[in-house]
Amino acid sequence: SKLFSANQNHQKIFSPPPPPQQQQQDSNPHAAFDTLDLDGHFSFQNTAHASRDFGNRFFFRPAAVLHPKSVSDIASTVKHVYEMGPLSGLTVAARGHGHSLQGQSQADGGIVVNMESLTRRPSQGHLRGGGGGRYVDVSGGELWIDVLKETLKQGLAPKSWTDYLHLTVGGTLSNGGISGQAFRHGPQINNVQQLEVVTGKGEVVTCSEKQNAELFFSVLGGLGQFGIITRARISLEAAPDMVRWIRVLYSDFSKFSTDQEHLISLDESFDYIEGFVIINRTGLLNNWRSSFHPKDPVQASQFVSDGKTLYCLEVAKYYNSHHDDAETVDMQIQGLLSKLHFITSTLFVSEVSYLGFLDRVHVAEMKLREQGLWEVPHPWLCLFIPGSKMDQFASQVFGSIVTDSSNGPILIYALNQSKWNNNIKEDVIYHVSFLASAVPSSTGKDGLDYILARNQRILDFSLGAGIGLKQYLPHYTTQEDWKGHFGSKWEVFLKRKLTYDPLAVLAPGHRIFKRQY
Ligand code: FAD
Repeated sequence: SKLFSANQNHQKIFSPPPPPQQQQQDSNPHAAFDTLDLDGHFSFQNTAHASRDFGNRFFFRPAAVLHPKSVSDIASTVKHVYEMGPLSGLTVAARGHGHSLQGQSQADGGIVVNMESLTRRPSQGHLRGGGGGRYVDVSGGELWIDVLKETLKQGLAPKSWTDYLHLTVGGTLSNGGISGQAFRHGPQINNVQQLEVVTGKGEVVTCSEKQNAELFFSVLGGLGQFGIITRARISLEAAPDMVRWIRVLYSDFSKFSTDQEHLISLDESFDYIEGFVIINRTGLLNNWRSSFHPKDPVQASQFVSDGKTLYCLEVAKYYNSHHDDAETVDMQIQGLLSKLHFITSTLFVSEVSYLGFLDRVHVAEMKLREQGLWEVPHPWLCLFIPGSKMDQFASQVFGSIVTDSSNGPILIYALNQSKWNNNIKEDVIYHVSFLASAVPSSTGKDGLDYILARNQRILDFSLGAGIGLKQYLPHYTTQEDWKGHFGSKWEVFLKRKLTYDPLAVLAPGHRIFKRQY
């Protein structure tokens, strides 16, 4: 193929594209691509969407966007870039749904692979029932919401989720994928049986715990550095159809965290355990994630946390309305709640379908989109905190460094370390996320600069106090910082990079490695 034939054309093709009017005048600027035998196609002009992401803060223009229709489209593209050798300087970034925060799925002057065009129609996915090994094979560009809808047709569903399902399988598996089920099932990367991957050399490799295991474990949570996930085999369980969704409030952090840790330690517990912090806010429902409609909405909206910090424990119990007896479900819930120490007048219960529960953040998204509040800068800060340091972190950060939660939700929930090896050697770790939205061009407390400075204060305090946190979805600009992030695992990470993507072609947006020239 002549895609990147070694003539001078590629220099022209992959320098930043000229403005659209100039491109139109050019008779056939990309002739070299026309001869490539692709099932899908390249686009050179409509690349603007690939230079944005949910974070709305980083904008790197690619030279081209590949819309693959087959795995071989991706493999042959990566292989060409690899075989062109160091001189091309080209990079390739897989783009899922573009919900990264800081340019992680962008490729400055390189090629962005629009993974969503690889999706098979969900009905063509392979769904296997029966026995303990139920799974579904899905494309890396599939949205989790579509995986859910498809598997539910057979009464099955994946076990571990993210809070928001309009993310792709390949995108979340490159990071981890956590939500309120992770205390039991581990993150999404713990619930994958097999992957098909295109490495940085353009090879298509199937891998699992038993086959090419090193690649398998490199790619899961590997920030896209070792390969592009083209197919994933996801473990399934019998799906419930209904959910009792419960929120209770605490004013005392240690009671809140003791209860969370108690709940995640039980064999028979809730099916979902999360929580959030309310600082200087009115009402339990005043939160962009809220599609929560408790039976007593008036009471729920009356809580005034002026000057105070409240902690909301959010739990859910799944059940099957055809098989499970409602009274038994209620008794189980009562049994669990009776051991907790929340403010007794603050028990709010909502009843929703399983699909409605899992897709809850999408409801909020639609509302925010209507108000033009979705496509704003999102200076999020997502952390993992060792359980032993959580009290210290909470007392310094909630109410002191962070004096209100009006910029966006602050999630906090405990996870069992045994379910996830993420470099913090403690039994319990907390996930804490400050999910702020900034008001464009504001210079006040709701502006980007203020929120970024606040995030930095949280990090500075944590460093000074020896909290030993790790960032989730991190963004660093130097390799030194990345070495610090990976700690003792850096050497292994580097060795694997040299094995699977030796020219550092893949996922340049993380800025961990420079394309080898
Ligand atoms: P992208 O942002 O497009 O890509 C992410 C990274 O993965 C990039 O480096 C990209 O190059 C790489 N990549 C993409 N596809 C592939 C592939 N097929 N193979 C290899 N690499 C690939 N995360 C959680 O864990 N839990 C949550 O509850 C959660 N909630 C969220 C809610 C919202 C509203 C948003 C915006 C994000 C949330 N996230 C959550 C974070 C989310 O998991 C990451 O932002 C993820 O990167 C988004 O997935 P995406 O499909 O849009 O991937």
